Amino acid sequence: MIPVCTKCKKAFKQQHPYACPKCEAPILLNYESLPGPFKDERMSGVWKYWRLLPDVSPSKRLYLGEGDTPLVKSSYLGKQLGIDELYFKIEGSNPTGSYKDRIAAVGLSWAGSRGRTACIGTSSGNAGAAVAAYAAKAGFSYHLAVLEHTVQAKLSQALLYNPSVYRIAAFGTDPEIGQQVFDLIFETSQRNNWEVMITAFRYNPYAMEGVKTISFEIAEQLGSSPAAVYVPAGGAGLFVGVSKGFHELYQQQLAASKPTVIAVQPEGCSNIVRAYEAGEKWPLPGISTTAISGLQVPNPPDGSLALEVMRNGDGAAISVSDEQILAVQQLLAEKEGIFCEPASAAAVAGLIRSCQLEKEAPTGRIVCVLTGHGLKDDRLMTEAIQSHPLPLMQVDQLKQFWKSD
Ligand SMILES: *Cc1c(COP(=O)(O)O)cnc(C)c1O
Ligand SMILES: [Zn+2]
Repeated sequence: MIPVCTKCKKAFKQQHPYACPKCEAPILLNYESLPGPFKDERMSGVWKYWRLLPDVSPSKRLYLGEGDTPLVKSSYLGKQLGIDELYFKIEGSNPTGSYKDRIAAVGLSWAGSRGRTACIGTSSGNAGAAVAAYAAKAGFSYHLAVLEHTVQAKLSQALLYNPSVYRIAAFGTDPEIGQQVFDLIFETSQRNNWEVMITAFRYNPYAMEGVKTISFEIAEQLGSSPAAVYVPAGGAGLFVGVSKGFHELYQQQLAASKPTVIAVQPEGCSNIVRAYEAGEKWPLPGISTTAISGLQVPNPPDGSLALEVMRNGDGAAISVSDEQILAVQQLLAEKEGIFCEPASAAAVAGLIRSCQLEKEAPTGRIVCVLTGHGLKDDRLMTEAIQSHPLPLMQVDQLKQFWKSD
């Protein structure tokens, strides 16, 4: 594992910086060619891939059942779109119900292996629940700043693990407030020797290595890399991590090709999509108006890294409306039997939108990463119960109802 500055390309040996001390650019971890096998069959979940993860001794590796999530073939939507092989990577199967568990497992194991016992971070809900669970497992204290508008189900879940939670006004809508919170967290972490658990490569490139295990699993489950992978994008760490995973497989000659990775944002927070379309190197900030929890990131910390991946020809970006996202969430439940949260449905809405724009379906195998479980966001559930009044019946009435003639 070699930390390398993404701007000046300096490689760091002894210390473990989280950003380049000279140019303040994000750093990413590079790996030498693997001398032996890629995967350690004795391990489960993300730790099977320890050879391409930060160095953590086996006794310090936290495990709650993260990773090893199913790849499910579409039975309805693929046919509708004219795609022979469409798959859903079900990240809702992780222990706290989202792929953030992969980041929490790697990040807190890495922090613990360096003697740290506390962490600090932000969350729209899922990272909070994930980090809180692994912090509980590891005996870490956890200081968590949440958005003004955090979905109740996610917040309640995080609170159950009993971290210290602070709810911040205008965090999640105003890009300046977002930056101030990130800066304050960074300073506080430095002063107290706490691990920063903001789920972005910009703030913790070590923890974020957990994300790429999604790509490793997909390539193994399919036997090779797919043609395209659709992911939702908020801060864009997921996009960067998934791209990095496929890039490493290609670099290590474990895959013959790399997929195009497509970042999908809601129109009300489409700072990366607008920059991509305008050919800009930095995301175009603006007030976020989307109601899709998890994708309300007006100042995406990994936006510039994501745009670089796109400029290199390995990715693209597309936006969809909140209404389209919620309609797709309902459709996935009704037609595929998959209940994912709205942020996850965004990936599929993006695929549908690209099929509409290109007038023909993308060719080859397509994977949509369904990042979190439907139980994470009770909006559709509340609507479902409100639109289906269920009057109480007596058994005799039911007999009447089901009478055969
Ligand atoms: C965090 C999250 C995302 C977005 O990931 P980013 O790295 O912020 O782009 C998407 N879906 C779910 C369910 C999430 O929890
Ligand atoms: Zn540098």
